[in-house]
Amino acid sequence: MLEVRNLSVFYGQHHAVEDASVTVGTDEIVVMLGANGAGKSTLIRSIAGLAPARPGCSIRMDGEEIAALPPHEIVEKGIALVPEDRGIFGDLTVDENLTLGAFPDRARGAEAANRERIYALFPVLKERRRQAVRTMSGGEQQMVAIGRAIMSAPSILLLDEPSLGLSPLLCRDLFRSLAEIRAQGVGIFLVEQNSKQSLAIADRGYLLENGHVVGADSAANLLADEAVSRSYLGAGET
Ligand code: ATP
Repeated sequence: MLEVRNLSVFYGQHHAVEDASVTVGTDEIVVMLGANGAGKSTLIRSIAGLAPARPGCSIRMDGEEIAALPPHEIVEKGIALVPEDRGIFGDLTVDENLTLGAFPDRARGAEAANRERIYALFPVLKERRRQAVRTMSGGEQQMVAIGRAIMSAPSILLLDEPSLGLSPLLCRDLFRSLAEIRAQGVGIFLVEQNSKQSLAIADRGYLLENGHVVGADSAANLLADEAVSRSYLGAGET
């Protein structure tokens, strides 16, 4: 279980995240919805150790405090980030990108098994395992990014707007894959700007406004809430 308490992040004088508290279990998909600039990326990057949290916050993984750890040690504790820019190496092949993901100590023993798990989840990656990633479609590249994160054998996967730039059809496939990953015992925390599709596969959701968590409910209740739809889900989105 990931437990974030009273997380605040400043950029100079700018308060990007203020006193945010969230939890994510290893058996659930949790979505953080927020408009442009609400602080979603900052929040998720801070959990991964990539944005400086103010002293006084607590980030615990299975009860162990990790807020002061550097990013590579946070990965060793079982938290993997798929960043908004995907963080993959375009000139390397699918297989090579996956190999890089298996670098953490916690993942080394299970490298072959994790690779097979990813190829079972995304069969197209197995077909294209020797293809340079920059020649692949946006949806395929997102699969490589998620696959690379899974190679680190995470307990919690953090995803920064995974649906960005994908067609509704591809998004649906992607979110179905996330549900499969949850079924394998990996908790998922994703931040999204406006996604009915993400709530459709999620268990719970939070709402972020100007760096503050202003709401939290089951995904079903958030989907049914008209005020939430107006503010976060995008009028034209299906
Ligand atoms: P988007 O959906 O547009 O990616 P977001 O909800 O992810 O937005 P953040 O990227 O976390 O929002 O940004 C939150 C606020 O912090 C914004 O006002 C942004 O301009 C500011 N910010 C983000 N990164 C930095 C930085 N490195 N230096 C200064 N300000 C920053």
